[in-house]
Formats: sequence, structure tokens, C-alpha cells
Amino acid sequence: MNATPWYAEGLRFSCTQCGKCCTGEPGFTWISEAEIDALVLHLGLERAEFLKRYTKTAWREGEQRKSLSEKPGGDCVFFKRGIGCTVYGLRPKQCKTWPFWGRLLASKTDWEAAARDCPGMDRGAMHDAETMSAMAADDGLA
Ligand code: SF4
Ligand code: SF4
Repeated sequence: MNATPWYAEGLRFSCTQCGKCCTGEPGFTWISEAEIDALVLHLGLERAEFLKRYTKTAWREGEQRKSLSEKPGGDCVFFKRGIGCTVYGLRPKQCKTWPFWGRLLASKTDWEAAARDCPGMDRGAMHDAETMSAMAADDGLA
């Protein structure tokens, strides 16, 4: 088996802060218990209040998990137009690892399909294969 990934020469990505991945159609931004704890502390809320205001519950691979909820219209509950992510330092892992997700690095075709919606992909800073593979292996989506 050839262990050399198709992205062995590295890939370019620099976020343009366009906000596309935080807005639009509702989706799932999975959040772990530890990430919830950090945001609860940061926002100074009771945990129950945080869960009610900022999360929704959904099934993922046979398990009930927490995802960030959306504002009416689909923007992430923590996205503010004109400002961006209001919890940037504490954003969930899947936000931090984008676009180096396992399913996007699975093939050049998957990467190119995602790049059509993310203007930061294939431009800007070069990222090495080892770093990207490590992120993909722990992308917050497993
Ligand atoms: S869609 Fe891409 S460029 Fe735009 S905010 Fe998201 S990661 Fe950044
Ligand atoms: S937590 Fe922040 S980075 Fe993640 S989807 Fe929401 S606004 Fe975007």
C-alpha cells in the first residue's frame, strides 16, 4: 500500500474571514463536553442555560451529541455579522481543524469540491502534509 498521501507536497489555506462556513444553511457544529465546559466558564453562565441558549441535540453515529445551534436564517449562534466568530479562541475543534478534515483530505476530488465553497482553500499559507494528517486524524468529527 502506498502511504504517501495525495497532498504530500502540502496544500495552501488562509482563511479570508468571509464567514461562509459559519452562515447559510443550518448544519452541525459538534461540540465536546470539555468545549462546553470552557464556554460555560468563559460566558459565566449556568451549564443548563448555556445548553438551552447555544446548543441543540442530534444523533451522530448512533449517539446523542451536542451541536451549536443557529440563529434564524442559519448563522451559527456565535457568529456576528461584521465581526465574525465571537468565541474564536474557544471555537469547537471542527472549526479549528477546517479544512483539514479527514473527509476532505480523503481525495483531491473531495478537497476540490469543498474548495468551491471556501475561498481560503488553495491560496495563502502552505501547510505541510504531516501537520494536515495530524489534524485530520483528530478533526473533531469522529
Ligand atoms: S469559508 Fe473558508 S475562507 Fe470563508 S470563513 Fe470559512 S474557512 Fe474562512
Ligand atoms: S463557533 Fe465560531 S468558527 Fe465555529 S461555526 Fe460558530 S461562528 Fe463559525
